[in-house]
Amino acid sequence: MKIAIIGAGNMGGAIARGIVQGSKVKAVDITVANPSNGKLDALKAFNPEINVTNNNQEAIENADIVLLAVKPWLVKSVLENISFDAKKQILVTVAAGVAFTEYCKIIGESATIFRVIPNTAISLLESTTLIASYNASKEQEQFMLDLFDEMGLAMIINESQMSAATALTSCGIAYVLKYIHAAVEAGVEMGIYPKDAQKMVAQSVKGAAELLLQNDTHPAIEIDKVTTPGGLTIKGLNELEHAGFSSAIIRAMKASR
Ligand code: NAP
Repeated sequence: MKIAIIGAGNMGGAIARGIVQGSKVKAVDITVANPSNGKLDALKAFNPEINVTNNNQEAIENADIVLLAVKPWLVKSVLENISFDAKKQILVTVAAGVAFTEYCKIIGESATIFRVIPNTAISLLESTTLIASYNASKEQEQFMLDLFDEMGLAMIINESQMSAATALTSCGIAYVLKYIHAAVEAGVEMGIYPKDAQKMVAQSVKGAAELLLQNDTHPAIEIDKVTTPGGLTIKGLNELEHAGFSSAIIRAMKASR
């Protein structure tokens, strides 16, 4: 399987590095195209076996998968300037908010297309990656799932759920960071050094997430375990609700969608 990645920015670069560290595609079978050289040089320094080029067309020659990682407003012009072969190649795109119908207008309705939305934790192989498919076989879907599962947790969803799911995962990571920031500020006000406070809060968030992922429980059950009647936690939890915590999160997710 040969992959051409067009665009070596945050997403393209992280995906190239992630694929190299996985087991599905060899570094020699990855070609990354980008107009400027800095990011390509960094990829070469990461793994000299990755092929790099400034020429998108050269990158996609002989590729089985063409992975588009440019800004959404560049998708049309990039696709119009390469000779993508819909009979032999699969298009994978990470561009947010560009629907399958838009791609079909350029490369035809018979093309096999995947829309993939990772989040920024992909650089640490801890992404939540959303995958929607168009005209794909079960085997092709499984390959994409396995490929991105090696960079965190990948999930196949319908395109109709993409905007809502993106709010939860890509935007959602910013809300969690906002909570961490606020909690660290509280810690500092209460006399804890910022670096210590940040470690305490970040590991607590990681632990909370792991409780749900590993135990497969409902958050309310895990909350109940730390909530003693008349105790400390319930006082804080109720204070959060008086300030509209749950409502604010629900409204934020819906606004992001
Ligand atoms: P980025 O860091 O700006 O990367 C875009 C890259 O595309 C840059 O390296 C740029 O090169 C290159 N490029 C520009 N014009 C090109 C062309 N004609 N041919 C080939 N490459 C070209 O952006 P990003 O954050 O990675 O976002 C890329 C896509 O990922 C976007 O569509 C976005 O919606 C999607 N996405 C992002 C996130 C996220 O959290 N960042 C999450 C999910 C999806 P130069 O710098 O040399 O111009």
